[in-house]
Amino acid sequence: MKKIYMDYSATTPMREEVLEAMLPYLRERYGNPSSLHLFGRETRKALDEAREKVAAGLGVTPEEIIFTSGGTEANNLAIMGVARGISSGKNHIITSAVEHHAALDTVKFLGERGYKITILPVDEYGIVSPQQVKDAITDQTILVSIMTANNEVGSILPFEEIGRICREKGVYYHTDAVQAIGHIPFNLHEQPVDLLSLSAHKFYGPKGVGALYIRRKTRVKQILFGGGQERKLRPGTENLSAIVGLGRAMELAVAHIPEKIEKLSRLRDRLIQGLLQIEDVRLNGHPEKRLPGNVNVSIFFVEGESLLLDLDLKGIAVSSGSACTSGSLDPSHVLLAMGLDPQIAQGSLRFSLGAENTIEEIDYTLEAVQETVQKLRAMSPFIRNIC
Ligand SMILES: *Cc1c(COP(=O)(O)O)cnc(C)c1O
Repeated sequence: MKKIYMDYSATTPMREEVLEAMLPYLRERYGNPSSLHLFGRETRKALDEAREKVAAGLGVTPEEIIFTSGGTEANNLAIMGVARGISSGKNHIITSAVEHHAALDTVKFLGERGYKITILPVDEYGIVSPQQVKDAITDQTILVSIMTANNEVGSILPFEEIGRICREKGVYYHTDAVQAIGHIPFNLHEQPVDLLSLSAHKFYGPKGVGALYIRRKTRVKQILFGGGQERKLRPGTENLSAIVGLGRAMELAVAHIPEKIEKLSRLRDRLIQGLLQIEDVRLNGHPEKRLPGNVNVSIFFVEGESLLLDLDLKGIAVSSGSACTSGSLDPSHVLLAMGLDPQIAQGSLRFSLGAENTIEEIDYTLEAVQETVQKLRAMSPFIRNIC
């Protein structure tokens, strides 16, 4: 049976070069980087080199990189760390309705703990307007946390403009760039960002490792307590093999971005055009300002989970616009924030493409989707699937 992976926004396979780089640190190089002896010096060097690679990929200095257990922890550290670092008594945080839960729920948590929070709405494409950010900033605002590119609908947000506004107003700007790094050109040397989250497994690195970029002089306090690792901002013995993998994955990810964008967007556009040929299908997310590998559509009169499961039987791996939690199907908070009707939001699919996908796979997928949609629509106008 065919096995077609179109869920690269959920995670990516690890590159062979990345695995090769990691193996010595899972075998003979096991010293603790904090140890002063030869074994420790060896791994300390690898840790420093990985930090240099990540910093070079972003156009910043190694001292500004803090390794974390992934994108989730980086977002938590950025938002809670800034909140804890403020000594002026200011307490207002701004975010958007389409953030990943790792950012959105952290802000909401602070909201329950006495911080003032503003969750900005988005337009029909899932994009926050910079003017709204500007209008929301008060003399109490400490932080704006708005993502670079959305993981569900692929829209690229105006992060540069938002960053400039924050800088003018003297407010910190954090951006969740987990979907952007390695996929669109990025250089923090030129972009007004104070904190940025990234995660290795979204760009062909290992799972469970990421980083938070913290611009020099940004006041952030730790959220975990323990040893002095990562300038005390992230205590705990380093996950060295994963960090080495992150460094190597970053080197590979930032190379040849224009070529990768060209290849992926050609596949993406072929898939979008084919899907829009099916009756009662609409594209979600911005038609142009979108990630090169993202396709998100609502297919009316069918249910996303049923589509997903039927495509899975045909060997095609995609994800749906609802989160299957504790037996209920909640429509995606992103699609709802964009103003989609909940029932239509539930009939949504995300295809996220990657380097391994081919034109043949796109065409096979289009045939499969057409067949599945016809079958499901014929069976019943709208079946609510049991999770
Ligand atoms: C995947 C993802 C995260 C979470 O990253 P993990 O490394 O899986 O914790 C956060 N934000 C966005 C936008 C993501 O796509």
